[in-house]
Formats: sequence, structure tokens, C-alpha cells
Amino acid sequence: MKNEEYMKQAIKLSRRASIEEKSGGVFGAVIVKDGKVIGEGYNQVLRTNDPTWHAEMEAIRVACKKLGTPHLDGCILYTSAECCPMCLAAAYWAHIKHIYYGATIEDSLKYGNFADVDILAEIRKPPEQRRIRFTEIMRPEAVEVWKEFSEMPDRACY
Ligand SMILES: [Zn+2]
Repeated sequence: MKNEEYMKQAIKLSRRASIEEKSGGVFGAVIVKDGKVIGEGYNQVLRTNDPTWHAEMEAIRVACKKLGTPHLDGCILYTSAECCPMCLAAAYWAHIKHIYYGATIEDSLKYGNFADVDILAEIRKPPEQRRIRFTEIMRPEAVEVWKEFSEMPDRACY
């Protein structure tokens, strides 16, 4: 299939989320490996009361489960709208190699009042200027576990 056909599927899922099922915002996503769809998702934030249930997050979860690995090396993500910072970060964690997007963050803001732009601005600020307070506490106790972890010969690697 061509890129446009995968994107068509992502856009169809965005319609399902926002207009047909009203489960969430105008977002749908598809993950493809070697020309095969291995995961798809659509926004279900309102239905599930889960602010992390974005289309891309669901598509990544489904694809990882299907492949039995937390990494999607060689996979392509097609998303009906440009990723929010959370989903972009998840794509990095998942080792996605290429992201195709339809609508831009500006479109999401203009037509849906989605505040992705604000979140990006917050991330770029120094921690002490962010809206969410960010305070270090009990570092030595927390680092104790890190030390133990670093000495485990069979520790998991990410
Ligand atoms: Zn997102």
C-alpha cells in the first residue's frame, strides 16, 4: 500500500473517534511494518476518562503487544494529526523510524482548541517557570534503588 492509503486509514479512525463514536478528539493512527498494518488506534480520552488515551499511544501499545517487544524498530507511524509532545516522546521510546502526519498542531488548535502548542512552550521553559511545579525530594533514597539496579548483572536495558 502507498503512504496515502495508510494515512487514509488514520484519517478514517480520526472520524470514528470524533464524529461517529464521540470517544475523543479528531485523532487516528496506524503503525506499519514491512508494508503491513500491525497497530491502529483512535482517541478515546472522553470515553475512558484517560488523558493518555491518544490514538498514537494506542497504536504503539497494540503494535508492541503484537510483536512482543517494547521497540518498534523499522516501523512507520501514520497519524491523522501532528503528534502531541506525549505521543512524540512515546514514538522515540518505541524507536519509530518515520512519522507521517496529516493535520498540523496549528490545525488542532484552530479547529479544536487543542493546546499542544502550550505544552511545547511549557517544556521549553526552565523547570522553575513551568505551570506544573517541579521539585526534587528524597534524592538519596531514590538513588539507592538506582545503585542496586546498576550492580545487577542481569539488569534490563532500554
Ligand atoms: Zn498525543
